[in-house]
Amino acid sequence: MPGFELFGAEERKEVQDVLDSGVLMRYGFDGMRNGHWKAKELEKAITETFGVNHAQLTSSGTTALSTAMAVMGVGAGDEVIMPTFTFVASFEAIIAAGATPILVDIDETLCLDPKAVEAAITPNTKMVMPVHMCGSMAQLDELQAICEKHDLLLLEDACQAIGGSFHGKKLGTIGHAGTFSFDFVKTITCGEGGVVLTNDETLYTHADHYSDHGHDHIGSDRGAEDHPFLGYNFRISELHAAVGLGQIKKLDQILAIQKKHNAIIKAALEQVEGVTFRRIPDPEGDNASFLSFFLPTEDLTRKAHKALLDNGLGGNFYWYDNNWHYIKKWSHLKDATSLFPLNPTLASALKSYDYDQFTQSDAIMGRTISSLINLSWTEEQATERAEKMAATIKSVLS
Ligand SMILES: *Cc1c(COP(=O)(O)O)cnc(C)c1O
Repeated sequence: MPGFELFGAEERKEVQDVLDSGVLMRYGFDGMRNGHWKAKELEKAITETFGVNHAQLTSSGTTALSTAMAVMGVGAGDEVIMPTFTFVASFEAIIAAGATPILVDIDETLCLDPKAVEAAITPNTKMVMPVHMCGSMAQLDELQAICEKHDLLLLEDACQAIGGSFHGKKLGTIGHAGTFSFDFVKTITCGEGGVVLTNDETLYTHADHYSDHGHDHIGSDRGAEDHPFLGYNFRISELHAAVGLGQIKKLDQILAIQKKHNAIIKAALEQVEGVTFRRIPDPEGDNASFLSFFLPTEDLTRKAHKALLDNGLGGNFYWYDNNWHYIKKWSHLKDATSLFPLNPTLASALKSYDYDQFTQSDAIMGRTISSLINLSWTEEQATERAEKMAATIKSVLS
């Protein structure tokens, strides 16, 4: 998954352009910048690479989610449906909007279960937010149909699935809006950064303003610009955007390596009786940054995970016990532990929620291991790792 493995001369050159001009900000200072507009250039490259009309860079994937929710009109009293398996940023953005996160089971795609989504809809539901976890996609056909039927917004969190696709369309470009994260461990990185993708011109224009304090970006005097609505500073810097410009040129290469290495690991694990694989709605569109697989029971999965780590096979994740990715350990959310008073509807919703209802998610996550695919392996190393993984798991299962 991590584009940082291929960091090199291309990124250095782009960053050096910015250092040479000294203009570290993406807006203004036209005369000083030697013609360099790295954030603007990266936004253009993103629209071309992913086949989407508009891209608004932000300071992180989390602020991309916040921006998307703001421009889609999500706020106080609204409910946003999100999965139990994700990253904490999902509910952080919903809570920051003043809305209420409604947690819903995942299925063997490791993404939202459409049936559970439909069952969770209330008159207050405003948005469904699938998260394309670990490089692969949610069931977008079903989710889109549900959103159309109930007149809901669809926001794709594609932060972990950059370059993945669903029936030929890039993940993040299929819903009303989508987001990527360019944090340090994502498929391509800016160091820190994110982007909102949309084909809707109004959403984009609002995102452009919202992420820069509401600046309308009309005219050439920043101080004289108007502020048609409230905003925040969620801007990316030119330095970060420059890194991303170097990285985006490597995306095809990154995806090709991931697919190759992923296939090597998968071929070995397919030989192990008892190992099954995550369901991928469109296997062609997997970004292949992880290989996620299931073992027969929670107990065997824990043993296999431990054996993998004991055998020096790091990069194998057991999300079920993870503090950041699975509901089980989100005590701060469940207790609504906040440094400041939350809106009362939200606080009481969080505290009264039945967090033990997710037996379907538990049954799946308890049996899931995700294996990170590295770019820096040689083919030989990937093969050696694959054989060692298969042997380790086999010894636990037999
Ligand atoms: C990384 C990530 C984010 C947040 O991105 P940051 O850039 O780290 O703020 C959001 N959602 C998912 C699923 C992620 O993996």
